Amino acid sequence: MLRFKRKNFFKTINFKIALVFALLLLITLEIVGAIFVKQLESKNIQDFKQAVQIPTYIDNSLAEQLTVSSTRKANGQIKTILSNYNNTNIDEIRVVDSKGTIRGTSDVNDQSVVGQKTTDRNVKNAIYNNRTYTKSTYDTQNNGRYYISIVPLYSSNSTGNSSQLVGVLYVRANMKSVYSTINNIMGIFVIASLVAMVLGLGLGIAIIIARAITRPIEEMKQQTQRIARGDYAGQVRVYSDDELGQLAKAINNLSIRVEESQESTEAERRRLDSVLSHMSDGVIATDRRGNITIINETASDFMDVTAEKAIGNSILDILKIRDDYSLRDLIENQDELMLDFSSNERDLILNAYFSLIQRESGFISGLVCVLHDVTEQQKIDNDRKQFVSNVSHELRTPLTSLRSYIEALSDGAWKDPEVAPGFLKVTQEETDRMIRMINELLSLSRMDSGTTRVDMELVNINEMFNYVLDRFDMILKKDDNPAKYYTIKREFTKRDLWVEIDTDKFTQVLDNIMNNAIKYSPDGGVVTCRLLETHNQVIISISDQGLGIPRADLAHVFDRFFRVDKARSRAQGGTGLGLAISKEVVQMLGGRIWVDSVEGKGSTFYISLPYEPYEEEDLWDDDSQA
Ligand code: ATP
Ligand code: MG
Repeated sequence: MLRFKRKNFFKTINFKIALVFALLLLITLEIVGAIFVKQLESKNIQDFKQAVQIPTYIDNSLAEQLTVSSTRKANGQIKTILSNYNNTNIDEIRVVDSKGTIRGTSDVNDQSVVGQKTTDRNVKNAIYNNRTYTKSTYDTQNNGRYYISIVPLYSSNSTGNSSQLVGVLYVRANMKSVYSTINNIMGIFVIASLVAMVLGLGLGIAIIIARAITRPIEEMKQQTQRIARGDYAGQVRVYSDDELGQLAKAINNLSIRVEESQESTEAERRRLDSVLSHMSDGVIATDRRGNITIINETASDFMDVTAEKAIGNSILDILKIRDDYSLRDLIENQDELMLDFSSNERDLILNAYFSLIQRESGFISGLVCVLHDVTEQQKIDNDRKQFVSNVSHELRTPLTSLRSYIEALSDGAWKDPEVAPGFLKVTQEETDRMIRMINELLSLSRMDSGTTRVDMELVNINEMFNYVLDRFDMILKKDDNPAKYYTIKREFTKRDLWVEIDTDKFTQVLDNIMNNAIKYSPDGGVVTCRLLETHNQVIISISDQGLGIPRADLAHVFDRFFRVDKARSRAQGGTGLGLAISKEVVQMLGGRIWVDSVEGKGSTFYISLPYEPYEEEDLWDDDSQA
């Protein structure tokens, strides 16, 4: 399973350590062995020497024979003594007398030497020096180790005190038996130590191999644990090319893949997050139990809760529909709901669309709710409904009064010259008012649909405003007994202001505001008309000293059919469309209209129009060029 690259393996530190251990083991074993063998050798040699020692009684009897005068007889005795003595360790025993003559040998095949002079220098020396001599020799001829001992023989005389050298005993013993045991033991020892070394080396390699297997596995385990923790940075080291190496590569691959897919899901999530947070619709997602898991910014703005607070809460509570709906209702019929989140500060009407998050298996894992702001739409709808009801109402009132007058006339009042003209006048007035109202509605509808034609021309606004105001002064002058007296005060800028407007339509606007100012002012009131300019605007204001407009109604005076006091303004012949038309016209000319009023003190209507003081600039430009 584990294939090492041979060359690399033998180079590894691990192998070297194993080798050193094995060698140390071997050296220790060798030292122990050497000491042991040395001890054994010396003990064996000692034993051997003891074994080949000739017993004293033989020494004595041999020494005795050497003192016998009859050489022949003595030699015969010596021969008998030697042949009687049996020691397997001893190869040869020679008896040499003090004159150096060989007197006997245990070697049966070499009896011829008896009677000859010894040639052995050691024997001679022993005789001469009267001393014991031992040595071990190595006989190259026989390939054997021999032990030689030359022991002096002494005669013991009758007194037994003084002893005299009578010869020497030469003993030659083969040490084969000693060394063969040692060699055997040495052999066993060498084999044993070789086996120990091989085993040691084998064990070392086995440990290395085990480590080589377990280390990558351990590293891989740690890496997988790191991956599980979400740390993909590390890489497992690939030690080999085998299955473990492949596994390590696979794990490295896996961590890269997991990281990539994690990154891509993360990117996907961020993209989704940014899409969700930039949506103008609110999105809420819940889990199976209807608890919110995701809520985007728009939705939390709508609900006026932070995302942190909303998450984990039931969608029923966040949408405040728990009293009317259950989660089952939402899941089973995912119709849209209209939810009113209006408060004092803001109007907010939402359409909530529900859909299910469903797995392929059909298992419902949650709900998605999309909240669409329909406040504006709802307002437009309401306005339209209001408008239709207003129009019908506005027309019904004059029509019913017309009808009652006509009924009265047809019931006979036409014959009465006292009432008939008055009745007819009323019917004519009412009809006129209706025609006026229809015309105004038509012109408003044309402006709404954008089909109104505007004829823009550059007009000197000072002149034009003066012309309109002159007309109002004129009405007062021509009428001998006017219903109401008023004074018009003009506060105009000295500079001539040229503005691009549609003269007819703008005249209509000024007429309407002037009419209102007079209509809603007390008798003898002052109407102050101002004209001034800023760097890019012309501002016209018309102030009266009338009853003013309540604060709450200021925002509505430009609405169609709006009147502060319906009965009174209708009685004064108003339709409630004048300011609505004025607003449309001013906006069409690119300007703005607004009102400021203090109830009981008077109102001021302002109109601003875009203005470019180009004439002066042109002049100035010409000057600079000159
Ligand atoms: P119309 O102008 O169509 O004949 P109207 O004057 O009633 O009818 P608007 O000109 O649109 O209608 O004015 C709307 C309402 O605003 C009036 O009914 C009135 O209640 C109020 N209003 C307008 N101008 C003044 C003002 N100068 N002072 C007090 N209230 C005013
Ligand atoms: Mg009016």
